[in-house]
Amino acid sequence: MNGWHILYRGSLSSCNYGCDYCPFAKTSNSVDELQQDQRALDRFVAWVGETRRDIGVLITPWGEALVHRYYRRALVTLSRMAHVRRIAIQTNLAAPIDDLLDADRDALALWTTFHPSQTSLDRFTARCHEMDAAAIRYSVGVVGIREHFDAIAELRARLRPDVYLWVNASKHDPAYYQPGEVERLRAVDPYFHWNLPRYPSRGGSCRAGETAFTVAGDGGVRRCHFVGEIIGNIYEPGFDDALKPRPCPAETCGCHIGYVHRPELKLDGLFGAGLLERIPENWPKLYPRFAPARC
Ligand code: SF4
Ligand code: SF4
Repeated sequence: MNGWHILYRGSLSSCNYGCDYCPFAKTSNSVDELQQDQRALDRFVAWVGETRRDIGVLITPWGEALVHRYYRRALVTLSRMAHVRRIAIQTNLAAPIDDLLDADRDALALWTTFHPSQTSLDRFTARCHEMDAAAIRYSVGVVGIREHFDAIAELRARLRPDVYLWVNASKHDPAYYQPGEVERLRAVDPYFHWNLPRYPSRGGSCRAGETAFTVAGDGGVRRCHFVGEIIGNIYEPGFDDALKPRPCPAETCGCHIGYVHRPELKLDGLFGAGLLERIPENWPKLYPRFAPARC
């Protein structure tokens, strides 16, 4: 495929939640910092508008972005660009979605995560039902720690059957899961096993840095979130000369947003057009038990 998959992450670092397992710095942002983040986002949106090629964007903030109206407006603007095949964002879904009703639903998608210690199933699923009514495409995920198992089962029962519910594996302890627990989670997410390992990746091929890349608020380009080397800047002419195949320099790769770009895993075939928002292309056709009942 000739298009680009772009992960955008500005300087926003604040979140309305405080999950114990959060890997990001839990900070608050001043008004000045938010304005700076907004200017950077506006500049990125303008750049996408001028870059007339097939583009998919996933916004992956350090904190929660959808609580800020300027992010909701950016999603709407990007969704309406004819050359933007997908605009997606990672979110805890706490914010109202009213502003998103102006978006082009063919391009918009949300990567939502349920955090059981921060909100209730009722509140989270009520927002999911609002998105169903608004015909907004979304996936739902949960961190697969033991304390969440019951909530995961209850969430699966409450979601529309054809909404894909993914589970992120706990990877701090390679022996974390006890006998039967992986099977229990695979009964909810049949693709859970893809997220279980940290894949050895050093020297392996990867489309990150070629057709997929990460953009920071200042325009700096890295091949992915997990490799620090800056390979260019989107605001400099000819930056795309730096986009080319190169071997992975990291020991392992363990996040969906990274390993889906490794050709040997063939996950681009599994996720297809839903790669950025984490919805398998044929979901739920391959798993009829998740398909809506016929009248
Ligand atoms: S909602 Fe996400 S960003 Fe916010 S504290 Fe939880 S894991 Fe971190
Ligand atoms: S394999 Fe993972 S860590 Fe390595 S370049 Fe690709 S996405 Fe980045």
